[in-house]
Amino acid sequence: MSEASENDMTEPGIDGTPTADNGSLQYPFADRGNGGRPGDGEAMEMRPGVLWLRMPVPIPGLDYINLWLLEDGDGWTLVDTGFRSSKLQAIWEQVFERHLNGRPITRILCTHFHPDHLGLAGWLQERWQAPLWMSHGEWCFGRMLELEAAPEVPRDVIDFYHRLGFSDAQLEAIRKRGFGNFSKAVTPIPRSFHRIADGDRILIGAHGWEVIVGRGHSPEHACLYSPDLNLLISGDQVLPRISPHIGVYPGEPDATPLTLYLQSLEKFAHLPTDVLVLPAHGDPFIGLHTRIAMLKRHHQVRLDALLGALHRPHTATATLPLLFKRDIADHITLAAGEAVAHLHHLMRGGQITRRLNAAGIYEYSRSDARLAAE
Ligand SMILES: [Zn+2]
Repeated sequence: MSEASENDMTEPGIDGTPTADNGSLQYPFADRGNGGRPGDGEAMEMRPGVLWLRMPVPIPGLDYINLWLLEDGDGWTLVDTGFRSSKLQAIWEQVFERHLNGRPITRILCTHFHPDHLGLAGWLQERWQAPLWMSHGEWCFGRMLELEAAPEVPRDVIDFYHRLGFSDAQLEAIRKRGFGNFSKAVTPIPRSFHRIADGDRILIGAHGWEVIVGRGHSPEHACLYSPDLNLLISGDQVLPRISPHIGVYPGEPDATPLTLYLQSLEKFAHLPTDVLVLPAHGDPFIGLHTRIAMLKRHHQVRLDALLGALHRPHTATATLPLLFKRDIADHITLAAGEAVAHLHHLMRGGQITRRLNAAGIYEYSRSDARLAAE
């Protein structure tokens, strides 16, 4: 999907600094055929009654999303659906034919609103007359973005990026991309849903699954943990090879998503060390706590880099070279969103402050440096 406006606060990827795992994570299925992954239209059994499907994603750096089919009595519960595309619908038809054993999909559960997860939920619901289960925050946010439309990019969106230090050319590119593109990436989102919430226990077939809500990547991201099966469906909250995208966007310009993300990672502390993690991108792995420690370290390195530089005031865009070593020109809104997420985390901790300069652009600097200067 094209990058455009706040609607595209979608994906892991831009902060996808490959956070090398140095062999500390185990990929127990890596030695199966096809590189240890199911091909298009294929399914791979992870545990009895738990099937892994992969669907292509038209977002650079992501390539595929993992979806999960869980045996559920006389039917199947599906976790996540894939991006809206006729190609994926054709792949789904193959899956229906080959892998459902004549049983219907009886429940669609989406971890969060991003279109590679929610995109085909409306089509699947029509196809199977199956209810959509989601957290309240994710369903509302998806519906809101789906309905949002404007003939041109609203002023507050442009103002937001101006305050981050975007150039006139960069602002013009945002205008050109237009507004309200989310609806193109999803089939009509079901107008009713069944709410799931943090701490809920859901019975799927013979197995109980605990809902663990993560924050920061999206408003109320549902992860599912089954103690019986020793499985965690982690969605985008914990990924093995890239760090989930954590960004600030015009709809909530003072958001502190990195603070929320780091806090919500603590909610996984009670899971066993050998739990098999089923992520939405990358391969199933063992090493949840190791991975969480790596993700925390990844963000700490960035926070330290910012603190080290903010003895002198910087605009948000001026911090980008400190955080991203690669060319981020094509992903500037995502990259700036990430940078601001880190800056807001430091502001929340009182380590830095910001002020608007004469050009109406925020400058961020260390609280101690500013005090010394005043
Ligand atoms: Zn996502």
